[in-house]
This record gives sequence, structure tokens and C-alpha cells, in this order.
Amino acid sequence: MAINRPKGTQDHLPDGSPKLSLDTRASAFAFVRETARRVLERAGAQFTDTPLFEEAELVQRGVGGSTDIVRKEMFTVYYFGDHGGFILRPEGTAGLVRSYLQNGLKQLPAPLKLWTHGPMFRAENVQKGRLRQFHQVDYEVLGSADALVDAEAIALMTEVVQALGVQKVKVKLGSIGDPEDREAYNAYLRGLFTPHLEALSDDSRDRLTRNPMRILDSKSAQDQELMGTLGVRPMLDFLGEGARAHFEQVRGYLDAWGVNYDVDPSIVRGLDYYRRTAWELHHEGVGAKSALGGGGRYDGLAQELGSKETVPGIGWAFGIERLLLALEAEGVQLPATPGPLLYVAALDEVNVGYAASVARQVRTLARAEFAYRAMKPAAAFRDAERRGARFVALIGSQEVGQGTLSLKDLQTGEQHTVVTRDLQSFLGAQQSSTSPSMQEQP
Ligand code: AMP
Repeated sequence: MAINRPKGTQDHLPDGSPKLSLDTRASAFAFVRETARRVLERAGAQFTDTPLFEEAELVQRGVGGSTDIVRKEMFTVYYFGDHGGFILRPEGTAGLVRSYLQNGLKQLPAPLKLWTHGPMFRAENVQKGRLRQFHQVDYEVLGSADALVDAEAIALMTEVVQALGVQKVKVKLGSIGDPEDREAYNAYLRGLFTPHLEALSDDSRDRLTRNPMRILDSKSAQDQELMGTLGVRPMLDFLGEGARAHFEQVRGYLDAWGVNYDVDPSIVRGLDYYRRTAWELHHEGVGAKSALGGGGRYDGLAQELGSKETVPGIGWAFGIERLLLALEAEGVQLPATPGPLLYVAALDEVNVGYAASVARQVRTLARAEFAYRAMKPAAAFRDAERRGARFVALIGSQEVGQGTLSLKDLQTGEQHTVVTRDLQSFLGAQQSSTSPSMQEQP
């Protein structure tokens, strides 16, 4: 019996694969990562990486014991002799903040901007856009509570997405206030829901005692209906003076920079360590219930993870698969992966090694490929075209003897005779004369 990959995972495949879709195309993931790198590193973010598995305790405290992720979706790591105290990471923030604390990154100039990307794991019910191994791009800023940091983080998130060519995105922005504001809001919610216990779902009755704000996140139709009839006041109504001023400042910067957002009073993040700014990034094509990404300020997280001091922090993450679905929905064409600049084939078996050496020399300059056995000219041209090559060189004993090459440019159909020693400089000149920066501007 053939062995298949686990449910909820995907293989990332080379271009040209028979069953390719945008969210399984390895080069599409690379394009997203490289675009994110360009935008984020120009803003001063540094790439960091943390382990794919962490202490279970870190995930419990960092993500929150009352969340679905911790209660139902954690992958536990077992290995010989171990009791399973590790968890495959379900998100990136907890690990990055742990790394910041453990490695003394506080000594670096603040605010410290970090970014990472990689696989995340959640044992979810699998459906379109909801996988068990998915991939995120993650940006975190540590060491500043300034509203300007929040605004920049939100703007950068939209810039990454726009740099990828996705247009129809909208930031839904809210604030969840300071801890005392949330206490007041939770008291209000308790008062509101307690007389209607029987109308709440079992999960939400439990939330009412532990953390009433999480009821607002509930996906249960029963809860949704009750909330509709009760008319729940938004968290924004409960902001204290400090949180309100911060929110207005964030909005002020975003307005001034022309970042597209809507204030959405329904944004909630129930965990204790979240503070103030919270947002989601939505796209028309991915469905209202599934965000492309989300972010928020988490000034209380470092202490939750054992730090004696408060470390203000804010961050966001988007799912690469969801983003690729959005690209697909908008019909955005990703740049095609360029084929080799040169393809070399020998016409006789005896020259196969020589043809390979010609291609290998070009590799310090560009991608170059060769045929592994002798080919007839028609077959060689077919193979070169299939690989998307720009120039083709066919090598017979005459070319080897004279030290020259006859190159055909598959783009223009032109033939060039080039002295083999000069091949690099010939190809280099061709490459730069056709590179985008040298082309006429439209
Ligand atoms: P979260 O950490 O839950 O706020 O998720 C941030 C983003 O990661 C979401 O908006 C999605 O784009 C992506 N994401 C979360 N869970 C999944 C999943 N199970 N499958 C695919 N993408 C996901």
C-alpha cells in the first residue's frame, strides 16, 4: 500500500507538476517569503528563527489555556523515554518572545523588530484554508509601547500584502483597552449574559465564568443568535482615557499615511496579556470568517512567560496559504520562474562531458543546464524549450576542436558564434541588456 501524507498537510511542488495549485506551488511560497523579506528588512526588521517545538508550558501560557488552540489543537511531541512535554508550535509569537527574554535581546537597540516565517501546527478540522500544517509570515516589535510602532506594524502588514499584488484587503482595527478596561467590560458581559445562561452554548457557559470576552469570539450559531438579540455593546465603549488616546494616535498616523482600515468594534482578544491595539486583515475572496492575518499588542506577555519586567510588544502574522488563495481569487499572476540562461547539448556521446563543463562554467553567472546524453538537434531544441531556456548551444567535435560555440537565442531566433572562452562575458552582456532595469520604462 502506498503511504500518503497526513491529512491537513500539503506538499510544496516544483513548477510544471501535474497537480499544481497556487497554494501548493513551492515557488509561490518562495515569492511570498522574499517579498516579505524585502519589505520588512527595509523597515529594519531582522530575521530570526526559533524551534518548531517548544515546552508545552510555553504554549499554554503564551497562547492561553482557555483558547481552542491549547484545549483542542495541540500536537504533542513524543520520543523514546520522554513523557511528551513538548508541543509543535501553533504560532510564532510565544517562541519569539521566549527567545528575546532567554537571549538577552533587550540589550539591542529598541524598538527591536524581528520577523520570521515557517510552518505552524494545529490539529484543526481540515477544510479549505484550514490546514494542520500551515505557514506564516510573522513580524514582532519588542521594547516600545508607542502608538507609532503600532501604526507602522499595521502599515507594514498591508504593504507586504500589496507588494504581492493583492489589492482587495481591508484592515479591521479595534482596541481592547487596558486590563482595567477589560475588567469593566467583562463585568458588563457577565451582567448581560447571566440571566440567559440556558440560551448559551456549553462552551460559552464555561467562558462566562472564566473569560466572558471569549464568548464574543464564539462561532456557535446559538451564541451568535443570543448576541444578536441582546445587542452587545462593543469593547470600544469601555476604553479608559489612556487606551482611547493611544487608539486615536494610531488612527491618526494611519489616516495621515493613507492606510486603508475600518474601525471594527467587534475585534476581541480575550487573553489577559493583550493590550490596546488589535486588528485583522480581511480579503473579499477568502470569506468573512477567515482572516488573512491578525495582529495585536501584547504588553503583558513577557511577564506571563516569567519575565520580571514588562516588555511592551506588538506583532502580526498572516497565513501564506490563505494569502495565496487571495492571490488566486484576484487572478494575480505570479512572476514565472525564469528558465536557464543557457542549455547545452552534445551531438555525440564522446562530447557529453565537454558540454557539461561549458554549462558548469556559466553557473557562476546564471542558471545553466546540460543534456546528460547525446541528442539530435531537434530533440535538443525541444528539451531546451520545455525547460524555458534562453540560449541553446549544440556541441559537436568541430566546436570542441575550434573552441567556438554556436548559440541560438530562443527569444529572438538569432544565431551567434562565440569563442568559448568569451562565453561568460557574452552571456553577461546579454543578461544585463535585457534586465528590467535596462528596459525602457513604460
Ligand atoms: P492566528 O494566529 O489564529 O491569528 O492566525 C493568523 C493567520 O494564520 C490566520 O489569519 C490565517 O491566515 C493563518 N492560519 C491560522 N490557522 C490556520 C490554519 N489552520 N490553516 C491555514 N492557515 C491558518
